[in-house]
Amino acid sequence: MNLIFLGAPGAGKGTAATKLSGLLGIPHISTGEIFRNNISTGTELGKLAEQYISKGSLVPDDVTIGMVKARLSEADCAGGFILDGFPRTLKQAAALDEYLESEGRKIDRVVDIVLSEAKLVERLTNRRICAVCKLSYNLKVHDINDSVCPACGGALIMRDDDKEEVIAARMAAYHKDTEPLIDYYVGKRKLVRVNSEEVVSDTFANVLAALGIKGADQ
Ligand code: ADP
Ligand code: ZN
Repeated sequence: MNLIFLGAPGAGKGTAATKLSGLLGIPHISTGEIFRNNISTGTELGKLAEQYISKGSLVPDDVTIGMVKARLSEADCAGGFILDGFPRTLKQAAALDEYLESEGRKIDRVVDIVLSEAKLVERLTNRRICAVCKLSYNLKVHDINDSVCPACGGALIMRDDDKEEVIAARMAAYHKDTEPLIDYYVGKRKLVRVNSEEVVSDTFANVLAALGIKGADQ
């Protein structure tokens, strides 16, 4: 299955996409994570992306589109993929469609993860990420007071762009550039909406139900 996970920052796309990737055995492609890896290893791409990410702005389309096309052309994507955080603009969506069509591939479903604005901000400010395995935790949900990742022992850190000053800019970018993608994919009859209001395991169960996938033991 070729899938896109859409949703505002903090909606829970990454967590659900990670779980689904494990269940289906297809790669989870998070553009935010690719950028952050490039920032931490100090590549040219990382240096460029950091200027935008630190302000809560989007990285320019041509850079992002080129990066995703290269990733999707890798062999492990042939049997399906989950895009998380891409496309984020109409230009990216059109470029993705054009690229996939030229390869005789297509997007099967777009999962829009929906959460109210107040909860989005609360989830972002309470989010901590494992510096090693990149799993995401929430201070209000998980017992992680010792700041150590329960899965791998890595240090739990707050993303710089989860600081309150940057969140407003990310939300503004979402409303202006990304929200129009909802109508774009409704028009293509690909959109399914999933409620993320309740607990995280419910979100994943809702994703599976929306896609008609039988869960393992979730
Ligand atoms: P979130 O969905 O919580 O905002 P991500 O990890 O998906 O987090 O993205 C972090 C940042 O990386 C974004 O705020 C943006 O600056 C940049 N980014 C990620 N994906 C894209 C994209 N498709 N186009 C432009 N910028 C992107
Ligand atoms: Zn970890």
